[in-house]
Amino acid sequence: MRALEGYHSPQVSVGVRLNTNESPFPPPAAWRDAYAAEVSRVEWQRYPDRMATRLRDGIAALHGVRREQVFAANGSNEVLQTLLLTFAGAGRTVATFEPSYQLHGQIARVTGATVVEGERAADFSLDLAEVSRVLSTAQPVVTFLCSPNNPTGLVEPEANVRRLLAEVPGLLVVDEAYGQFAPWSALGLVDDEVPLVVTRTFSKTWSLAAARLGYLVGPQWLVAELEKVVLPYHLDTAKQIAGRLALAHVDEMEARVRHIVSERERISTAMGRLAIDVFPSGANFVLFRPRSHGGSEVWKGLLARDVLVRDCSGWPRLADCLRVTVGTPAENDAFLGALEEVVS
Ligand code: PMP
Repeated sequence: MRALEGYHSPQVSVGVRLNTNESPFPPPAAWRDAYAAEVSRVEWQRYPDRMATRLRDGIAALHGVRREQVFAANGSNEVLQTLLLTFAGAGRTVATFEPSYQLHGQIARVTGATVVEGERAADFSLDLAEVSRVLSTAQPVVTFLCSPNNPTGLVEPEANVRRLLAEVPGLLVVDEAYGQFAPWSALGLVDDEVPLVVTRTFSKTWSLAAARLGYLVGPQWLVAELEKVVLPYHLDTAKQIAGRLALAHVDEMEARVRHIVSERERISTAMGRLAIDVFPSGANFVLFRPRSHGGSEVWKGLLARDVLVRDCSGWPRLADCLRVTVGTPAENDAFLGALEEVVS
């Protein structure tokens, strides 16, 4: 415990909150009505469906897989935790390629595993020679990729994922919390004979961060192992309803994704006209580095103008970098206006 730092994401009260990559839009009104109606009929004295059958059926249908290949939990963080409780632990090694999502290493350490951090190239792309070095020397039982990668926004090319699949000595986890915003998904590579799982969340595209619901798609044998480890009745009935009903709104969610992607391109282009390095993103956020001012100075300047972004400037390998979540057009305008004032 002395060696752990915990996970820090400050929640400050501001007018324009663009720091945690949530959806800027609430769920559709039709979802709220259907949810309220179903929740009013819940038999609260009974435990939930332990296998979350209808929810998993809905997710399986969405991705064209079988229910037995889907494992759902309280946010994709709990999915990751269950994976690591099952396969990592003391005496085992987990590999990450940094910078990436901090909780991969954090949760692995909590299970007692050793975390080996491979380095990415200066543009944050994977260095395949480094990948081979890490995999062959550390022999990780679990190897993480994140695509699009948080906090850089970089989408992992399919060729890299295939290359890692051929090389990993254990399991490859591709965290696709932002997968809907990217041009391709590793979901198509999932197969009962392939050591791959892809994790997803309802927190972003599905506008359900408050519900805490995520899932993975992977081999049937692996899902059966996870079910032995996770607590019984871990997914409450209300959440199972929330997720299942959300899946009835795929078209509306896809329209929102297109809207956010076009706003992402708009703010990336606008930032590029300022004295700012902008990293190409396939997610619902953009990493950027002001050239003329320090990162935390810009973060404070934005906060003073009622705009909260994520300050990554103190994180290893991300000196002076900030990350902004794509918001509504009005929020994005407020951000761009404040940014221009701060850096000019
Ligand atoms: N993976 C990545 C890469 C993330 O950025 C996040 C959200 N910060 C998560 C997983 C966790 O998402 P949740 O637990 O809300 O599903």
